Amino acid sequence: LTILQPTRLSILGSTGSIGTQALEIVKANREKFKLIAISGNSNWELLARQIREFRPEVALLTDSSPKKEFIDAVGPTETELLFGMNNLEELAESASHKIVLNALVGFCGFMPTVKALKAGHKVALANKESLVVGGELLSEYVNHGHNRLIPVDSEHSAILQCLVGEPDKEIEKLIITASGGPFRTWSDEQMKKIRVEDALNHPNWDMGAKITIDSATMMNKGLEIIEAHWFFGVPSQNIEAVVHPQSIIHSMVTFTDGSTKAQLGLPDMKIPIQYALTYPARIKLDTPRMDWSVPQHLSFEPVDLKRFRCLGLALEALEEGGTAPAVLNASNEIAVARFLNREISYIDIPMVVQHCLDHMENSGTLNLENLIYIDKETRIRARAFAV
Ligand code: NDP
Ligand code: MG
Repeated sequence: LTILQPTRLSILGSTGSIGTQALEIVKANREKFKLIAISGNSNWELLARQIREFRPEVALLTDSSPKKEFIDAVGPTETELLFGMNNLEELAESASHKIVLNALVGFCGFMPTVKALKAGHKVALANKESLVVGGELLSEYVNHGHNRLIPVDSEHSAILQCLVGEPDKEIEKLIITASGGPFRTWSDEQMKKIRVEDALNHPNWDMGAKITIDSATMMNKGLEIIEAHWFFGVPSQNIEAVVHPQSIIHSMVTFTDGSTKAQLGLPDMKIPIQYALTYPARIKLDTPRMDWSVPQHLSFEPVDLKRFRCLGLALEALEEGGTAPAVLNASNEIAVARFLNREISYIDIPMVVQHCLDHMENSGTLNLENLIYIDKETRIRARAFAV
């Protein structure tokens, strides 16, 4: 008789959209997961509630300014409380977890991914920016023999599910589906007047602000093509994006014999989050199912690179390689923040990214120090750019 030990799990970014959904999975499967560490940044009230409810061994508040209020809100506890950004990498590396769910948003998730992998942990990766910026450095961990880096992004989870039992060398093409976002059918004229509220209103998914804007510009699909390239080792010319407004097919793989496999489901991030935590096993999940007793309409259309320039810029950055994807990522993060701040308009976002890509020196050599330097320099340039 073997008694299955619960999986020792940490969640970086537990207060975010992915993080809170992951905690719901933990709550529904208390015997399967033991929560080791969680982290939040600005939402200290929610982090305090999570500590009281889930009693992790460790909790980290990266933005430590409301330290006293936070400690008061947590109350008497056995959870060890940590503060400050500098503890994030340390936590990823040294906590006694088996799996780290990286649900941080942006470049701040990159070094925690590196540290966790180097320390021998598994990483369930929602933080796609990690692979966009440093895919080349991380690719050794994705190698199918290792399986230590597991996708959470729904498209990549779909591809992983299609690839179970298939030899990598027979992959002909990855087809990544895109909802097309809220502006799929908008004219150029309409797109000039897009407000922050319009862009935050995604038709199919309820997500954090940054990825919601990335979905509206379709930069998200560009980041996902780069992510897929590194996750599955498929050359960029064999990865295709297609608009599928219903978001029922989460992505597809065509094999060398012409057969195509797809993974379907109602849009619900809990499915890919849970699969990443239990892979290659599956466990029960109570979510609404597709109703095949009523007519269903699944449609597909090509992506419009003219109206969604960010996607084209991402493809160029992947083609160029080296530090170009890091520049793409950093300039996009700043452009999105400036848009959310109402400093620039929606159509200025690709202008900021283009400006930074045009003015960077691509040294070609890729190492951690270089990536951190390029990220910092690009942010300065992207902030200073007057559109
Ligand atoms: P959210 O903005 O909802 O959450 C981000 C998390 O990271 C929060 O816990 C936040 O803390 C924390 N955080 C933010 N900035 C920092 C920082 N500078 N230092 C440390 N922690 C920080 O994002 P999402 O959950 O939507 O997305 C997370 C990642 O998953 C992104 O890379 C996104 O692209 C990817 N993803 C998300 C999907 C979704 O459905 N949401 C789908 C597919 C991929 P706090 O809130 O306390 O400030
Ligand atoms: Mg996705």
